[in-house]
Amino acid sequence: MATGYLPADGIEGVVVHLAATYASLTELITLPEQSVEKRTIHALKIANGTGPSRRGILLLGGVHARELVNPDMLVTFATRLLQAYTTKTGLKFGPVSCSKAQVKRIVDTVDLYILPLVNPDGRAFVQSPAGDPMWRKNRAPNPGQPCQGVDLNRNYDFLWSSGIGTSGAACSDVFKGPAAFSEPETRNVRHLLDTRTNIVCLADVHSYAELVLYPWGDDDNQSTDPAMNFTNPAFDGQRGVHGTGYREFIDADDETWFATVGDAVRDSIAAVRGRTYTVQQGILLYPTSATVHDYAYSRHLVQAADRKVMGFTIETGREFQPPWAEAEQIIEEVQAGLVTLIQSAMRAAERVLAGKTVAAPPG
Ligand SMILES: [Zn+2]
Repeated sequence: MATGYLPADGIEGVVVHLAATYASLTELITLPEQSVEKRTIHALKIANGTGPSRRGILLLGGVHARELVNPDMLVTFATRLLQAYTTKTGLKFGPVSCSKAQVKRIVDTVDLYILPLVNPDGRAFVQSPAGDPMWRKNRAPNPGQPCQGVDLNRNYDFLWSSGIGTSGAACSDVFKGPAAFSEPETRNVRHLLDTRTNIVCLADVHSYAELVLYPWGDDDNQSTDPAMNFTNPAFDGQRGVHGTGYREFIDADDETWFATVGDAVRDSIAAVRGRTYTVQQGILLYPTSATVHDYAYSRHLVQAADRKVMGFTIETGREFQPPWAEAEQIIEEVQAGLVTLIQSAMRAAERVLAGKTVAAPPG
């Protein structure tokens, strides 16, 4: 068991502490549902000011239990951002600087939502001597089944029924659960997207592989045939194989934005100590369905009233639980990437983030 990582209740403790310490700059959001094992879960909103022009950005961590670095990284980022804003200083991540003006602009103009530990039960189980250090899922009891746990990042309502990259077997590490949003932990994330309607960008931080992933995960992207898309039942059963047949429609401007911002995030991460992450479409890692970045980005295509949310998955580092000295380096480099992601979402062209609900025809 790698040492240095905060325990599950320590991550939660930092969130509550920051909300109390920086009361005028934060909101402590108690999510509506406790975890399966009845842990209360909080998100932290960091913002100075209110108003209809503010954009929201949602950062998630700790979805997969054994991926220990990212909750520590997110509470470190929250702490340092609040300290820097309050003391009117900049931030430094290795040789990479974020000026005090940039810090001020982020906190003054963005609603930053941080949910550092989506799956506290899983982390507690990983860190318990009686647990399993390589546990991935939540701790759902799965009545009548031989194994516990649902893969929370296969439980969202995006092609959940398709079976692409998921399993219906409870003992599988990619068990999708008995229904989309069967788990309180995924319903909490949906709640944030439903209620914080200014969210335009989401990053779900996982480990490992040094990747920046963007939609889609179910099949290869294409921008020429809007009818060939995940909502069209004529293509059911044809999705999920890289390099052949079906391809998932994505708005060309959106894909350009994902790739451009992904490259900028990559470059900021690399500037810290030279680790160059790879930016790619989700399926190039492996085919998936029911993940949060695809779900978040798909919402505006399903419900016209929903705002478009540009969803990324960042896979940090080179192992699930690096020694703490290496974890500290990952924590530095990924924060630099997140600052760039936030600044990109602030600057994004309105037409990309405005929430177009109908795909434009080709040409
Ligand atoms: Zn993961």
